[in-house]
Amino acid sequence: MFKTIRWKMTIIFVALVVAAELLIGIFTIAETINYYHKDFSDTIETVFNFNVKSELQKAANALSMPAPVDNNAILIEEMTQENINKINEIIQNQLGYLAISKYRFYAITDGSGENILYSSNNINTIDMTPVLKSASEGTESLETSFTCSYMDYALPLGTESTVKYIVYINDNEQIQADAVKRTATILLYALLLSAVISFIFGKMLAGSITIPIRNLTVQAKKLADGDMNALEPSSAHDEFGNLTNSLVYLAHTRQESTDRALSEKTKVETILQNMTDGILAFDLNGKLIHFNPEAQRLLARKYLDDLQFDRFFKEINAGITLGDLLYVKHDGSLEREIKLKNQYLRLNFATFSVDNKIGGIIVVIHDVTRQEKLEQARRDFVANVSHELRTPLTTIKSYSETLSDMPDVDREVQIRFLDVIASEADRMARIISDLLTLSELDENQTYYKAPEEINIRKMLENIVERMGMTAKKKNQTLTYNPINETPVISGDRDSLERVIINIISNALKYTGEGGNIEVYSSKVYKDICIKVVDNGIGIPKEKLPHIFDRFYRVDKARSRDTGGTGLGLAIAKQALESGFGGKIKIASEFNKGTEVTITIPVN
Ligand code: ADP
Repeated sequence: MFKTIRWKMTIIFVALVVAAELLIGIFTIAETINYYHKDFSDTIETVFNFNVKSELQKAANALSMPAPVDNNAILIEEMTQENINKINEIIQNQLGYLAISKYRFYAITDGSGENILYSSNNINTIDMTPVLKSASEGTESLETSFTCSYMDYALPLGTESTVKYIVYINDNEQIQADAVKRTATILLYALLLSAVISFIFGKMLAGSITIPIRNLTVQAKKLADGDMNALEPSSAHDEFGNLTNSLVYLAHTRQESTDRALSEKTKVETILQNMTDGILAFDLNGKLIHFNPEAQRLLARKYLDDLQFDRFFKEINAGITLGDLLYVKHDGSLEREIKLKNQYLRLNFATFSVDNKIGGIIVVIHDVTRQEKLEQARRDFVANVSHELRTPLTTIKSYSETLSDMPDVDREVQIRFLDVIASEADRMARIISDLLTLSELDENQTYYKAPEEINIRKMLENIVERMGMTAKKKNQTLTYNPINETPVISGDRDSLERVIINIISNALKYTGEGGNIEVYSSKVYKDICIKVVDNGIGIPKEKLPHIFDRFYRVDKARSRDTGGTGLGLAIAKQALESGFGGKIKIASEFNKGTEVTITIPVN
């Protein structure tokens, strides 16, 4: 309880008042004592003035009869009594001044001060005080010191060499003690009263300071808890009013900066949440302090919270440690590429600053799988093109060299060799033409051709009729079955025709002697559906996902023998998608047959 400022202030206030009262009391008592002492000295000075002292000396030395020659004791006593009477008479005259009472007496002693010859209060013995002692030695003395419990005065009388009598006055300071007691009692009451009053006033005064402080404290606490409207501006012009208004101002500016920081935080959070790159932030101890959902997704981890820099990047073989970033010299950022579960990830490491010091590490994770795959496809493509062109070139070269080395070879062999050279040249031309078509389709560079009306049924009847000749050569049956009527569509007729021819010719190529090839057309909902079904060699299941890749062939030797380039299906897919917004699908069972389905939306 006494720890509060209010109590402390009250106690200090009361202590100050009591101390002041005590000082006043001590001073008053000292003054009272001083007054009585001074009064005693003044009285002695007034009473025992020069004249009185001379009279007293005279009285002490006066002899009314001649001195006895034989030292008669009775006579001496009588003479002394007479002297005493005379001395007493003089003193009696001063009684009004001396104020002799039961607390103050006077006595006349002999020269030693030990024997009382007369006393105003009929006492027989007297204490040998220092004053009396020095009087017995011939010196007039007065004692009024604070340390003494009485005041006394002694006047030696007699001749210069002999002290015959001493006039002694003693005051036991009872009046002074009574006065001091009364003063002390009054002061004590005053002290108690003022202590109570000062306690009440002190508490009120302290309250007038501490209550506003307490209220402000409560409001400041609410403020700290986020209740920015806890403080009302004050209209008072005192210190508390100013303090309250300063706090209100502080609350407003804090609210503003909190809002600003919050909005910045939300902005950054939103950016981080929606970034297509993963972000990880680590502190200087390698502890993960922030991450976004994309990082979680790319790293394929359900929980990231327990991630530790060195441990984690060692685990995924990134070949980097915290020390490399913090202690090894580098130009601000480091890059690593890793493969994680069929994904290629590029990791960019950089330090970030807090208060002009390195505060931690930021890791940006990019998914470069697509680029990596494209790069791989590009490398494969170049290798494939070179390979595909080198094979016919080698054949042409070897055949032509043979011809030139053997000029006498008969005509029949010459023609056969030249046929091979021509067929390999055709093959090269086909590859180059297919590559050009693909390149145009890739770049969407096909010359703009005015769309033509395409009657699917007519087109299919025409193609089937034309290719029937080829089918016949292998004793295959090629039939066309329109399921229902298909609407006329518009687009690049030649391109669509090339696609369908390629698919039917594949069916003929990869179906054995006496095989069966059927072509269907139908309208299903808003799509035109064309199907080419054969009962040929089929495609193994595991090869199906690659069937539309450029230069991909299930059986390279067989395909080459049949004049295939491995680009037909790739061109078909590209041409349908970019020219008609269509799709192509292949379903096949190895050694049973293949079903190619084309869907073209009717616009
Ligand atoms: P190609 O010019 O070699 O025929 P394509 O791109 O047209 O090239 O076909 C790619 C590969 O798909 C072919 O080499 C072949 O192995 C396989 N293929 C295509 N159609 C069929 C089919 N109807 N039956 C079996 N395999 C097929």
